[in-house]
Amino acid sequence: MDDLSRRKLLALGAVGGAVVAAGSANAATFGNPDQPAEGAINSTPGALSNPGPQNTALEAQLPSFQNPPATDVGSMPMMWSSFNIMPKRIQAGGWARQITATEFPASTAVSGVNMRLGPNGVREMHWHLAGEWALMTNGRCRVTMLDQQGRAYVQDVGAGDLWFFPAGCPHSLQGLGPEGAEFLLVFDDAFQSEYNTLLLTDWIAHTPPDILARNFGVPADVFKNIPLHDLWIFQGKEPPALAVDQAAVASGGTPPEPFTFSLTATKPVKENASGRVQLADSRNFKVSKTIAAAIETIKPGGLRQMHWHPNADEWQYWIKGQGRMTVFNTGPRAQTIDFRPGDLGVVPKSQGHYIENTGDEEVQMLVVFKAPEYQEVDLSDWLTHAPPELVAQHLNIDPAVLARFPKGQLGIQPG
Ligand code: MN
Ligand code: MN
Repeated sequence: MDDLSRRKLLALGAVGGAVVAAGSANAATFGNPDQPAEGAINSTPGALSNPGPQNTALEAQLPSFQNPPATDVGSMPMMWSSFNIMPKRIQAGGWARQITATEFPASTAVSGVNMRLGPNGVREMHWHLAGEWALMTNGRCRVTMLDQQGRAYVQDVGAGDLWFFPAGCPHSLQGLGPEGAEFLLVFDDAFQSEYNTLLLTDWIAHTPPDILARNFGVPADVFKNIPLHDLWIFQGKEPPALAVDQAAVASGGTPPEPFTFSLTATKPVKENASGRVQLADSRNFKVSKTIAAAIETIKPGGLRQMHWHPNADEWQYWIKGQGRMTVFNTGPRAQTIDFRPGDLGVVPKSQGHYIENTGDEEVQMLVVFKAPEYQEVDLSDWLTHAPPELVAQHLNIDPAVLARFPKGQLGIQPG
């Protein structure tokens, strides 16, 4: 009798000694563990049909919700959301859409904004309570910032680059020609809204003219043409060359560490034929003290291995390709979710997860953690660094076979 049949028999014994035919709805088997059994393989065509009202286009985006694997069990909070279903705020010069904890309650650590600035479009000079981290996804953008010691930073960034503006540090963004810019903002506060920031124009318009005159040491009528309503995003003029802007702000000194960083130019921390992981946290992007991030690239057929993160929730932004993630928690609970470009996912701290590339092209996803450093525990790494006989007793696996499990955090396994 092979191992699998023996375990099947033992499992059958556990249901009170009743004789149940293998494969029937009551048999807990390998790949079908639960009592009562869950999943389509335990049902009938009549019961599986779905004759009621439905939007098949929408349902087709999340096939694993329509037909979860038999190993999924229990209920979990909704860990999927998407910029694709969020309303845009559109103004001359650009647009934005956002997902805070109000729209996505599972995201308890950070909020996200997807913003587009056309050529020379300006996100108004502003500041806010949360720290702002960003990933450029398209085009080029000029960022300006003043740090806590009054030192200015001006830089141009392109696709794959990051910026980090510490909480309260004032800043601006401008899309550069000819393509403009698109980027993802991540705030280190789940409730920070891009529609609720401290705006330069709002403050100036809501300060008495005589105070403006005294504050800036000029006559009050200098301010007679100020906008009375805020700009937020507006169509600006083409900025001068970067060196000109940098020279214009240099008198206060230069910050010792850059507030921008090229994530996609870093050497991968994990890489093999099936994909790679590139990392930016406070160890290499020194100013990013509250946000750690990685870009995971998974080739077709690849599997991002079973792992978890002991120090923070994982917040995902799906950039390219399509995939499927399964999350595991106590209970037991397990849920499988599908993702496409523009979607967000959340994995709470220390909950196990793995990701399959389910499409024909490369998956690229950004994972963000509200933490100073990226941390990961890999299941295979643990099982190959625990006493083999101990592991063998847990899983009924020959210790000699255990030795073939991947050692070290390889990250991505081939299909
Ligand atoms: Mn901002
Ligand atoms: Mn992860």
